[in-house]
Amino acid sequence: MFRDMFEKDHSLSFEVFPPKKEDEFENCYNILDELSVLNPDFISVTYGAGGSRSKKTVEIASYIQNNLKIDAMAHMTCVGSTADDILAVTAELSKVGVNHVLALRGDKPRDMSDEQFETRVFPHATDLIQFLNKNTSLDISASCYPEKHPEAISIDSDIAFMKMKQDMGAKMFISQLFFDNADFYRFVERAEKAGITVPIVAGIMPITSAKQIGSTVTLAGSSVPKALADICAKYGESPQEMYSAGVEYAINQIKDLQKCGMAHIHIYCMNKPKMTSEICSAIN
Ligand code: FAD
Repeated sequence: MFRDMFEKDHSLSFEVFPPKKEDEFENCYNILDELSVLNPDFISVTYGAGGSRSKKTVEIASYIQNNLKIDAMAHMTCVGSTADDILAVTAELSKVGVNHVLALRGDKPRDMSDEQFETRVFPHATDLIQFLNKNTSLDISASCYPEKHPEAISIDSDIAFMKMKQDMGAKMFISQLFFDNADFYRFVERAEKAGITVPIVAGIMPITSAKQIGSTVTLAGSSVPKALADICAKYGESPQEMYSAGVEYAINQIKDLQKCGMAHIHIYCMNKPKMTSEICSAIN
């Protein structure tokens, strides 16, 4: 049961993304089959910011929940959605027995005008959480940002909104990716001081290609410590060495988190079961 997860002092979970095309589903199911052998506490499934591909998220979450019998968490963004859109997706999730969502605002989709963005129905994740809590019986988790969200005016204001998410019903937080554990430790201390009592899960993204630094990482707003930048500079042109060094970096991050008692780990596994398996073997 997912609810047991909120009581545990350690956990291991993965994030996957749904396939873009219909003919890629079979491959995605194979990937999930391989990940399931690693026995994660749950697997979360990402969602398009505009909500247009929500059916794919539901389909993949259903496979995890019903075929693999692993708890599935469906991400859900509200930036481009009406209340009816949200209720339609929650009804689909309930139909397939997926009871847990990661409630997010999402980023402004490319095809959304500034005016549409400014007048969106759900301004923030807090509004979505409140709505879901009132209208559904879903378990709700939310995001948090060890180095603050790029739009936040300060880390303290970001944490104040995090507290609002908890007060409105969020039962767990999953963090944005980070590469310097000191940032995460400082953040958890501040969040706890501000009254956060629910689990804060550490989001770990293995960097196995130097290109990731320029794309995913920049988008997330996470800073890149010198040690990781040096790895990319040294091995960036050599895919196999870059892969090994990136996996080792992630393993060391996780081992250090575990040593410091931060034992809820969420691996942004980017649909790569071999890499995920190597990390899991190393961290026990
Ligand atoms: P919010 O919590 O709404 O925060 C956005 C900004 O507004 C912050 O600066 C915050 O401080 C501020 N804020 C929050 N609440 C309020 C309030 N009530 N009033 C005023 N200001 C407020 N994106 C996707 O498109 N699909 C995904 O599947 C996805 N999965 C993600 C998973 C994780 C674990 C994380 C950390 C992020 C994920 N994202 C995903 C990215 C996310 O959508 C973006 O980071 C987005 O910019 C913010 O979403 P949020 O829910 O954190 O927003």
